[in-house]
Amino acid sequence: MKSTVLSGIRATGKLHLGNYLGAVKGMLELQDKDDFQTYYMVADLHTVTTPYEKTTLRGSIRNIIIDYLSAGLDPQKSTLFIQSMVHEHIELSYYFSTVTTVAKMQHVTTFKDKVKQHPEHVTMALLNYPVLMSADILLYKASLVPVGIDQEPHLEIAREVARRMNQEYGTSFPEPRRFATKGEYVPSLSGEGKMSKSVEGSYINLTDSHEEITKKIRSIPTATVAGGELTGGLRSLFSFAELFLPDQVENYRNAFQKGTLKFVELKDAVADAIYHDLESIQEKHRAVEQNISFVDDVIADGAQRARLIASKTLQEVKEKMGMPL
Ligand code: AMP
Repeated sequence: MKSTVLSGIRATGKLHLGNYLGAVKGMLELQDKDDFQTYYMVADLHTVTTPYEKTTLRGSIRNIIIDYLSAGLDPQKSTLFIQSMVHEHIELSYYFSTVTTVAKMQHVTTFKDKVKQHPEHVTMALLNYPVLMSADILLYKASLVPVGIDQEPHLEIAREVARRMNQEYGTSFPEPRRFATKGEYVPSLSGEGKMSKSVEGSYINLTDSHEEITKKIRSIPTATVAGGELTGGLRSLFSFAELFLPDQVENYRNAFQKGTLKFVELKDAVADAIYHDLESIQEKHRAVEQNISFVDDVIADGAQRARLIASKTLQEVKEKMGMPL
């Protein structure tokens, strides 16, 4: 029996290096192993839980599919689909909300962060985010979820929902675990917090040119403080060096300790290494973007394949809960 894997990315803009290292790299690794059945979606229902631009949403959703294909996700190996095209996600999340208390949801750290970010937009959909994510995962009975470390609070909820459903209704949901990559936490270029689409100046897009990447990496604040302590910007720079120059990072660290490190040299080496990693993705991106009918087919086929499994799980749940079938 193959284990099932599910992951998704919101359609809030272009993919950035944090999405790539924290999520997509893990998605690729599991797709290429024989013993996993992989489902990767565009989380558009999650996208609308915070303010968004409705005139560009459809294009952004499609772009995530194009980004997935460019990064190497393969529709022959993985089911690539758009979440809202599989209605069962919403329906299962409703049933899951019957075993989830409001108090529990109000304490989820990601919810509290979003309340601070968007105090005018504290909606039921936002509160329900982790319950919908539980439905995303458990519809496919996925036991492994390749996502960044910021998603851990949501996985905790998914495990609790699985336990409660199994106890109350005798379902057989697995308790899903996170599949962590080396880049499970990619820091912001500013040195404060994580790289994030919602923070301007914090990210590198997968489609950024060599010049843009160099400019962004050079802008990481690297002023040193007395005592040789690492500032936020320096910590970010060394994190990138660890991720992209693993064989050389020790030398750079030693040079920093000795006071001989030329920051611009380290920055340019990091920028070159990042671009080197992204170059082939960008080439593929240009080709996939032109192939409109291929992208359409991937989307239609993915929804059909996902529905096949999703409808079965939903029927099982309704049956166990005593709902009419
Ligand atoms: P989101 O854009 O919030 O839908 O995130 C999509 C995926 O990218 C999730 O698996 C996140 O955990 C992951 N992710 C987002 N930002 C970062 C980051 N800075 N470092 C590592 N993973 C990230």
